[in-house]
Amino acid sequence: MLEFVGSYNGSGARSLSDVGYSTRTPNVPRLPIMRIGFFGGSFDPPHRGHLTVARAAAEAFALDRVLLAPTAHQPLKPTGATASFADRLQMVALLCQELPYLEPSALDAPLPGGQPNFTIDTLTRLRVELSAQDSIFVIVGADAFLDLRRWRSPDALLAAAEWIVVTRPGFSLAQLDTLSLTPAQRERVHLLGGVAEEVSATDVREGLLHGRDCASLIPAAVLGYIHRLHLYGT
Ligand code: ATP
Repeated sequence: MLEFVGSYNGSGARSLSDVGYSTRTPNVPRLPIMRIGFFGGSFDPPHRGHLTVARAAAEAFALDRVLLAPTAHQPLKPTGATASFADRLQMVALLCQELPYLEPSALDAPLPGGQPNFTIDTLTRLRVELSAQDSIFVIVGADAFLDLRRWRSPDALLAAAEWIVVTRPGFSLAQLDTLSLTPAQRERVHLLGGVAEEVSATDVREGLLHGRDCASLIPAAVLGYIHRLHLYGT
């Protein structure tokens, strides 16, 4: 069962009922305020864990849209992805067919000269595309968030968006104290418990390579794509 733990310091959690319409100026057409989830990752390949995380975050935080953005060149994974960016984006698009509010995003497409894609730059680009009232929620697994101090500009990242940190087996949210967040930063970090998906892309790649049945780990459409293009040694 999903469990919304609250914001990191247990107070200041945003109300889930603040989805609505601006009423500031009656004569101006009212723009819907959107709550946008941004879920980045290697997605090499996208799997059941990603889907569960995206759904859990959208449901708990009343997100209108969740963008799934494969990262062309993830700075903290120096060995790089196995599948090409184009294939990972295609697979993410297939995963997104599972839920109506999921959208594949090419915001983290390859940069000139193969430079690394830093999330702070991605969020800056995303902000430009949205209207000023829209809220951005970065969705991240506990393992990735615990590494935040190694990301480029962690303080700017916490200021640029709210964060939804989702539990992952093997990683304890109690370790968040090691990040030494300020009280203001803690208020922007929301913990979402109750997700316990024992699956990783590494396991899926291994399984595919050794001819194991991975049907329970990835949606059928994604698996079909992998087999059609003989990805991951299939
Ligand atoms: P790999 O095994 O190749 O490192 P991965 O399974 O961790 O891949 P990524 O695409 O690197 O998948 O992860 C993207 C995001 O999804 C990260 O924030 C990660 O923490 C989160 N995530 C992936 N799998 C899970 C899971 N099973 N439970 C919770 N979060 C997950």
